[in-house]
Order: sequence, then C-alpha cells, then structure tokens
Amino acid sequence: MPLHDLTLAEARRRLVERDVSSVELTQAVLDHIQAVEPQLHAFLTVTGELALEQAQAADDRRKSGQASTLTGIPLAIKDVIVTKDVTTTCASRTLENWVPPYDATVVSRLKDAGAVMVGKTNMDEFAMGSSNENSAFGPAHNPWDTSRVPGGSSGGSAAAVAACEAFGALGTDTGGSIRQPASLCGVVGIKPTYGRVSRYGLVAFASSLDQCGPFARTVEDAALLLEAIAGYDPRDSTSADIPVPRYAEQLNGDVRGLRVGVPKEYFVEGMEPGVAAAIRTAIDNLRDLGATIVDVSLPYTKYALPVYYIIAPAEASANLARFDGVRYGVRVEGGNLWDEIENTRGQLIGAEVRRRIMLGTYALSAGYYDAYYRRAQKVRTLIRRDFQQVWEQVDLLAAPTSPTVAFPLGAKVDDPVAMYLSDVCTLPINLAGVPGVVVPCGFSEDLPVGLQLIGKPFDEATLLRVAHAYEQDNTWMERQPSLAQTTA
Ligand code: GLN
Repeated sequence: MPLHDLTLAEARRRLVERDVSSVELTQAVLDHIQAVEPQLHAFLTVTGELALEQAQAADDRRKSGQASTLTGIPLAIKDVIVTKDVTTTCASRTLENWVPPYDATVVSRLKDAGAVMVGKTNMDEFAMGSSNENSAFGPAHNPWDTSRVPGGSSGGSAAAVAACEAFGALGTDTGGSIRQPASLCGVVGIKPTYGRVSRYGLVAFASSLDQCGPFARTVEDAALLLEAIAGYDPRDSTSADIPVPRYAEQLNGDVRGLRVGVPKEYFVEGMEPGVAAAIRTAIDNLRDLGATIVDVSLPYTKYALPVYYIIAPAEASANLARFDGVRYGVRVEGGNLWDEIENTRGQLIGAEVRRRIMLGTYALSAGYYDAYYRRAQKVRTLIRRDFQQVWEQVDLLAAPTSPTVAFPLGAKVDDPVAMYLSDVCTLPINLAGVPGVVVPCGFSEDLPVGLQLIGKPFDEATLLRVAHAYEQDNTWMERQPSLAQTTA
C-alpha cells in the first residue's frame, strides 16, 4: 500500500514504531499531490518546502521523545483559515496576494502538536457556495468523477482527503460547507457545536453560524483531529470554556440503548431515490446495532432556508466591508479613495459574493430591518426550539446530508436557488448551533452518499461513537476513488 493511502491513525502508528519518518510520509503525499492535482485542483497553494521543513522538525521532536498525537502528520487547511507567512486568498481575487501576519488558533494548535501543513485548499469564494464553482481560481473536482463537483464550500479539503492528498484537512461550515462536501466526496466531516472550536483567524462569513471542523477518511481520524483543535480560546469570545473529551478513546462500538430520531422533514421533495434508499438502509443498520429508531418531527425545518438566506448574507455584508483594497489584499487604483474602493470591490469580488452583500445590505437597511432581519431572528429561535424539544425524546438524529449525490460541474451555476437547495438538510443545524457528523453510508450510481448524525450541544462524543460503530459494521471506507491509488 502506498504511504499516502494510510489512514491518519495507521500513519501515526507507523511513525510511533519508527517504521516510517515524517519526511518520508510527507514526501509521499507531496508526490501524490503532484500526480493528481492536474485533475483535481483541490489546492490553491501547495507548501512543499515548508511541509518538508515541518516534517524534519517533527522527526527531530519525535527523536527527543516529545511527540504528540499529530506530530509529523501531513494535513491540508482550507484557504479561509489564516496561516502566518502563507498566502490566504479565500479563493477571492481581492486577497490574491494577502500573506497574513498571524496563525488562526486552529492552525497554531496543529502546529503546536507538530502537524505538517501540505497546503491551502480550494473553496468557494469567501465560503459562499455549495459546489466550489465560486472559486475565483477555478473549481476543485470530485475524485470519484472529475466531471462532477466536490461540493462546497470546503470542496478542496473534501476532495484532497478523499484522494489521499492529505491524511486529514480542516474546513469551515456556516450552512453545510463541511458536511455537504464530505457527503459528496465520501469522507467523514464534523461540524462541531457553535463555540466548540475557536473562530479566531477564520475569515468571517456569518459570525453567528461559522464553525471550523475536520475532514478525514475514518471516524477515528476525524475524532483525533477534533480533539486537537477544540477547546476554549480567550481570543474568541464565543468559544466555550467546556472541557474537550478524548473523543477517539470513547469509540467503543456500543450504540445499544441510544434513541435515534429520524426527522421526517429531512427527506425533502426532490431527494434522489438512491440517496434516500442509502440513508434508510443506514438507519436500519443502526437499529440492527441496537439503537432504538424513533420517527420525529422538526416542524420549523421548512423555514431554515429562507431564514439562513437572510441572516447569513446580513452578517456577510457587515463582515466583508473590510475588504476595501485599503486594509487587505489587492487594490484597483482610482482617482480618489471612494473610486478605489468601488473599483476594488466592483471588479474583484465575484458575482455570488456580491449577490450576498446586496441581499444582506437590503435585509439590514432602515425600513426593511424589521420585516426581514428581525423576523428571521425570531424564526431562528423557533428552529432552535424544535431541536430543544426533540432532545426530550431522542439522544441524536440521523438524516440525509444532501438531497443529491455530486452533480456535474456547471449543472447549477446559473440557478442560485437550485444551488441554495443543496443545503436544505444542513442549514438548520447551523441555525440551531448544534453539532453534525457525516459518515459515508453507501453509493448511488457509483457516487458516495453520507449519513448525517445530529446531536445535542457539545455532545460530539455520542455522534462520533455512533458514526464509528456504523463505520465498523460496514466496508464503505475501503472503497476509494481510483485517483487515490495513483502513485507518483
Ligand atoms: N452553501 C451555503 C452557502 O453558500 C453554506 C456555505 C458554508 O457553509 N460556508 O451559504
């Protein structure tokens, strides 16, 4: 088996046993990246030289007996997460040349653990999109079928992990951007509880919804990554001061006695039959493993899409005001300051991001604020209450992640509403602030389908335990896209 093909846990074991060095592991990953990137474009920047330096440092650290879990493991980081001295573009022309002077907390935690960064991954511009096609630098491709999208906005991270270009990756999820691409690329993805992981150094899209989380090829690998990045950060006032469990140690395979709710509203009209069938089979599997399956209802689900598309653009319109060509990134010259700002924003910000800024500005403007923004906030409270009530009946929910498998590139680019509908099953989770874990649960027409497990606030441990028990009882993770096996 080529080295890049190992799971993170196996790679770690071999590093511990001194069977392989981090430099060897990193070189194998970099060679593989070089071999498959022309077909995938999962990365916007590959940091080969830096990665090998970090790998050498990790090997030295291991020799001196100071290694921790992720020491020497090559990982990829979504390009919306700031990295000191490494270009961070958010897949936007406005930040094409921006080199941040600091690391996001999640990045410094990985660095402190001795992890190796192989590069920054492709995404939809400023994380707005569901297909990666809003990247100003061209889309990433799905490794299962390169004529299809990897999902979005963290499509590059999902594709990179599926194609074995990294042992894990970080993404961000505001309305589904970790879970939907994880489903479409056949990998594990975690959207942690709001406040579980620091947002310091994530370029903000919608601050009340954004969370950072991991992608990996197995549940155990994802659990190890979550452990490394989660926890209180004094630099993010919304991060929670709640202890982080040892998630990976709690994967004991036992789901007996757990009550799993199946929300009927998530089997939306227009869902592909192959997707619904894979999800139903996975839920039956949970029953066979000893869980009790309960049909439940979250009646406000149908308002999640319109509520999200008021709140997220409203917050985005405020957050993105800082990209004016003065403070960060590229500036388009003009006769005076106002012309410069107008030229920079008008010429460099892509169509979808401009649409969100305009929608959000409108929803917040005097005269419309009450009708749109305030009302959306009230309905958001009702959506949260749906979840609070359902926890009185069940321990977690099991649902589809995306109504479709990966769709062909270009299929939805001219129809923003069709694109927005990709996220109907993921948006409510962000609005409620609860955690969601996606685990591969089969194929429909040879394309992956992911089961979404949704939990109580700060109960990622239960979701991971159930996902792991399911994974161990199935063989989906053994199937890999043919691109993953390509050796350099
Ligand atoms: N697809 C959704 C959007 O475009 C979610 C994006 C995200 O989670 N960052 O807003």
